Amino acid sequence: MDFTFSPEQEQVRETIRRFCETEVAPLVREADETEKFPRELFPKWAELGLLGIRYPEADGGSGFDKVTDCIIREEMSYVGQAFASAWSAHTHLGIWPIWKAGTEEQKQRFFRPALQGRKIAGFGLSEPDGGSNIRAMITKADKVDGGYLLNGAKLYITNAPIADFLMVAARTSPGLTPDAISLFIVELPNAGFDISALEKEGIRGSETGLIHISDAFVPDDCLLGAREGTYPVILASLSENRIGVSANCLGLARAALDQSLAFAKDRIVAGKPIIEYQAIAHKLADMAAEVEAVKWHVYYGAWRVDQGTLDSATASRVKLMASEAALRISEAAIRIHGGAGLMREYQVGRIHRDALVYVIGEGTAEIQRNIIARDLKD
Ligand SMILES: Cc1cc2nc3c(=O)[nH]c(=O)nc-3n(C[C@H](O)[C@H](O)[C@H](O)COP(=O)(O)OP(=O)(O)OC[C@H]3O[C@@H](n4cnc5c(N)ncnc54)[C@H](O)[C@@H]3O)c2cc1C
Repeated sequence: MDFTFSPEQEQVRETIRRFCETEVAPLVREADETEKFPRELFPKWAELGLLGIRYPEADGGSGFDKVTDCIIREEMSYVGQAFASAWSAHTHLGIWPIWKAGTEEQKQRFFRPALQGRKIAGFGLSEPDGGSNIRAMITKADKVDGGYLLNGAKLYITNAPIADFLMVAARTSPGLTPDAISLFIVELPNAGFDISALEKEGIRGSETGLIHISDAFVPDDCLLGAREGTYPVILASLSENRIGVSANCLGLARAALDQSLAFAKDRIVAGKPIIEYQAIAHKLADMAAEVEAVKWHVYYGAWRVDQGTLDSATASRVKLMASEAALRISEAAIRIHGGAGLMREYQVGRIHRDALVYVIGEGTAEIQRNIIARDLKD
């Protein structure tokens, strides 16, 4: 067993940390207040090679392993989770299926420009009536001359209001089995896609949409892979991404701890810094211990991805643990800050609101428990 990061991985961490401090941190508060994502980040991410980190160099990517991907996510979320969510929806869920199952023509048209930050992508799976259950999907695609007509709706889709294309899941046969689901690349604007931006309490600096889909024509060449053959691609991308978003939770948790530590050393109450009060020091000790536990869970999961041995129950255990811990730690941070914890001047309120996203997104905590429990029974 080797619990060290390589010098190259440490170098990547340092580079991302500096980039986030100088280029990202100044944008966080305004984006949280206006609920507008700063689009200029995409070309900047592209310049640093951050949009292609998980793809081979031969395909235009940076060829990093999952451990390095998690280092990058951790540092991104340490500074601004909303932007990390927009990035993840684009570079992992939005374009990974095209890299995995797309034709050469689809890769040239969508994947390559997305790597270069010239097109923004998103991933439309969740639905108003489907919620956590993919099998309840009602969005359907009927075959017509030259393509498909899509009808239905998608809810809570990250990047939808700013996207140039979306990966959209729809039924291509009436059966209520996962095999009935196909993936389409939908170029935007599309006359049949009515997209409205949603107002949120967390990750407000990423834009999230509700989509009404009404007779939206999608040409044959925008069907991804084989018709009704892409459900395994969806499952594989979700499993790997659960490790990724766990690294985002780690970044949030570390930020909450560091902000609290700095505050507790500075804040004088009744003549002494509050870190001198045992109740506060114990809270910080619990937070530090939990951050360490999350860290090694996340990097174990990333290592399993790199070994090609990640299973969905492991991905769910890591995600459940990391997301619940980030929420607890960020709540403790607010308690340590006292009244200041509720003030916009401090960051812990936003960190706590942002930490809520991953007990819900990418499969709720309850769904992760279902997967883990099923694995225990098997
Ligand atoms: C900010 C944000 C961004 C998102 N981005 C995307 C995106 O880019 N693309 C995308 O496709 N989706 C996205 N989602 C959707 C997300 O994946 C769903 O919100 C999530 O899967 C839960 O679905 P739901 O919100 O409809 O909750 P529901 O399914 O309605 O669940 C409500 C409650 O019931 C529980 N529940 C439901 N079914 C079960 C069950 N079988 N067993 C036990 N408990 C259950 C849930 O855990 C939850 O507590 C995003 C969500 C958010 C909040």
